[in-house]
Amino acid sequence: MRVDDAVLAYGGGWVDRAGALRADPERVAALLAGPGTRVLALWRDHCLVAGEAPVRLAGDRAAQARAVADEAVFLGLDAGEPVFAVDLSGLTEDAARELAGATGVADVRTLVGGLTPAEAATQAYARGLLHWHRQQRYCGTCGGPTEAREAGHVRRCVAADCGRLFFPRIEPAIIVLVEAPGSPGRCLLARHAGAPEGAYSTLAGFVEVGESLEDAVRREMAEEAGVVVTDVAYQGSQAWPFPAGLMVGFRATAASEEVRVDGQELLEARWFTRAELRERSAAGRPLGRVDSIDHHLLHRWLAEG
Ligand SMILES: [Zn+2]
Repeated sequence: MRVDDAVLAYGGGWVDRAGALRADPERVAALLAGPGTRVLALWRDHCLVAGEAPVRLAGDRAAQARAVADEAVFLGLDAGEPVFAVDLSGLTEDAARELAGATGVADVRTLVGGLTPAEAATQAYARGLLHWHRQQRYCGTCGGPTEAREAGHVRRCVAADCGRLFFPRIEPAIIVLVEAPGSPGRCLLARHAGAPEGAYSTLAGFVEVGESLEDAVRREMAEEAGVVVTDVAYQGSQAWPFPAGLMVGFRATAASEEVRVDGQELLEARWFTRAELRERSAAGRPLGRVDSIDHHLLHRWLAEG
């Protein structure tokens, strides 16, 4: 059984992206100025919050935020009302908070437990898109400046003899629950360099150029853990725009129980039975971040035996 993507944070298609409107600048400008419009203001990848709730700006505050930001990005329609995002990263934290009427700034990943799935997903969407705008100020071909087009979903080089288009960048990564051959059922978890002592998680890695997702699964498992895997099966995917990820979850079966970590990315990897994982979980050692597909892959597997 696959991971149900409706339960995964940061995705879910809550906002109607209304892509057809992006090509109509006059309509987008009218939406931006409309009375029902809400503007999400972010500051250097952080939500601006009042207490623990991200603020949505309207009226004068929204107009001030638009005036400060380079562009207002059209996110789409939320229950029929237009939603835009603006980046206040050019201000100091104090100035950004004051402009937005916020009391603080916070990473959406620290707020996620208290947000509705729709709010978490919309904040993550805004964060990823605004991050990309900051990284794509210049053309990689001629070095000229770029400007936002398509309501903030494309950037275009302004140099007359260039005009290259740039699209938001997404970096896919695979995350894999590897099962041991035979019984009892066991799965492979690893201690990653830099992770807290005793923290184990599933194996993951970025997809490289010229690879399918399945190629990346086979290569990463071999490189990081010395494990040859078969039966690579897709489980689900998760938006992870921190800053540009797309996590693609798989299961695979190891050809043998032998494990040999690389000692760099992974310090240790070993097989865990379901009983061991339940014990760890009962002892207060969570199985992965609760907002991550890692957590869901493990809990789905635990529920099977
Ligand atoms: Zn150019």
